[in-house]
Amino acid sequence: MNATPLPLATDVVVAGGGPAGATIARLLAEFGFRVVLLEKRRFPRPHIGESLTPHILPILHFLGLRSQIEGAGFLRMVGHTVCWGTPHPRTFYYSPDRSRQGWQVWRADFDRLLLAHARAGGVQVYEGRMVTQVHYTAGAGVTVYDAQGGRIHAAFFVDASGHTGILARQGLRRRDAIFHTLALTGYWRGADGPPGEDFANTILETFADGMVWSAPLHNGLRNVTLLVDWRAGQQIRRDGLLPFYLSIVQQLPYLSTLVARAELAWPPHACDATLYTASAFAGAHFLLVGDAGVFIDPLSSEGVHKAMASAITGAVVVNTILRRPTMLQHAIRFYEERQQTTYQTHYTQSVQYYRQETRWPESEFWRRRSQASSDAGSAPSPPSAHPPHPQPPSRITHVRLAPGVTLAHRPVVEGPYIELREVALAPRYPRGVRFLQGVHVPTLLHLLKTYSAIPEVMTAYLHRPEGRHCPPESLRQVLARLYQEGVLIAGEAADRRDQCQ
Ligand SMILES: Cc1cc2nc3c(=O)[nH]c(=O)nc-3n(C[C@H](O)[C@H](O)[C@H](O)COP(=O)(O)OP(=O)(O)OC[C@H]3O[C@@H](n4cnc5c(N)ncnc54)[C@H](O)[C@@H]3O)c2cc1C
Repeated sequence: MNATPLPLATDVVVAGGGPAGATIARLLAEFGFRVVLLEKRRFPRPHIGESLTPHILPILHFLGLRSQIEGAGFLRMVGHTVCWGTPHPRTFYYSPDRSRQGWQVWRADFDRLLLAHARAGGVQVYEGRMVTQVHYTAGAGVTVYDAQGGRIHAAFFVDASGHTGILARQGLRRRDAIFHTLALTGYWRGADGPPGEDFANTILETFADGMVWSAPLHNGLRNVTLLVDWRAGQQIRRDGLLPFYLSIVQQLPYLSTLVARAELAWPPHACDATLYTASAFAGAHFLLVGDAGVFIDPLSSEGVHKAMASAITGAVVVNTILRRPTMLQHAIRFYEERQQTTYQTHYTQSVQYYRQETRWPESEFWRRRSQASSDAGSAPSPPSAHPPHPQPPSRITHVRLAPGVTLAHRPVVEGPYIELREVALAPRYPRGVRFLQGVHVPTLLHLLKTYSAIPEVMTAYLHRPEGRHCPPESLRQVLARLYQEGVLIAGEAADRRDQCQ
């Protein structure tokens, strides 16, 4: 074979150049590591997963990519248009004035921008190189082999190979037994959309045996993806994918009208959309990042965000493992908890959403998914997309800590490292909370040992170094939020407690 030879050795090998791989590779190169990224395909390559909600904005900003993405010509969407629980479309906006917007990105272009960004940051990117094996040698790091006969030695291996999960599938992947889903994707040319500024909205529509997810793209195509139970595979094999796909699309009361005058750009294709997590996410020589570790329900439109967020945290974790080995176990634990919490939170949200569709109680698809809640019972309640600013109850003048709220040292992200720092532990925050809206919660809780009158607590906090740049309104909102979440309870004027150890 005439493949470009790989370097003999490097610090980190990343398998996969999607959003997760490109992001972690770039950040590790910024941290000063030699990084080699091996990507199976040649970019630009097609990929499903086009809807990016506004949650992606801070990540793009952090990576210095926001203006590039804004200038790429992708469609901006202001919300979701859904036929869920009713055949009539309803629209939910990201903000009432519609200024908060997401993107419908053509992933071939989006992912190419991200990979170019990694390359520009010093990552050695090799396209058309499929990783086939990863071997560990105790005390001597990792040897990575590719399908072109290449071999490279590294201190650390990052599995960012998405569904392939080149390392994840070596016994770590845990597929969900209930959300066992097939995605059938067709791209349509000449399709319509909701009128006016809603045109680019992501569309969700349910039917007796599944749901459809649809997004328009700036190249004139519209993605129409059916999500059906895995068992539909038998019927698909019998009837053929194209007839099966078309027969469902044509019966959808809303979406069928949008594609009535359109044609399929090419035949539909099927892929696995089963939810999964992993039994381990990190070790002394490896990390699973993005879809290699966790796959969440496509209906959330959050897969890319989740993948890039895990890559940012993952870069800090790898940096810590390689440069501060004494923090190894803390770094691993921190990353594992983050990934499991992400999975559980999305899982719970999905179940809650499925429960709102009650029109087909006999349907296996809806029955199984809406009854799945107990599986995710340990999840903390997911934060709402737009949390309302809590108002403190006007009659409360004094607060104190609720019984059972404590302070403890837990691993947190501190600059480029995972460090042990003080956090507040409460039933609402089983893994601890450190900052809320820029307010350092442990400092605030320490002050409650001395003060209980809300104005006194606020004044004391605002005079602390942690509170110097804190807007009083944010502090007031955080106090109200902690009260509503049961971290604080109403106190009395004479309260002088010392419950917080
Ligand atoms: C039906 C469906 C709809 C979705 N809709 C959305 C959506 O609207 N919005 C959203 O945000 N997300 C969506 N997603 C999820 C989203 O596509 C993924 O979460 C996202 O692409 C994950 O990024 P990643 O970098 O982890 O993996 P990928 O983007 O899958 O990248 C993995 C890369 O690894 C490469 N690779 C694979 N094997 C190897 C190997 N052995 N060696 C080297 N390289 C390898 C692949 O070629 C690929 O480039 C959807 C997913 C599905 C299935």
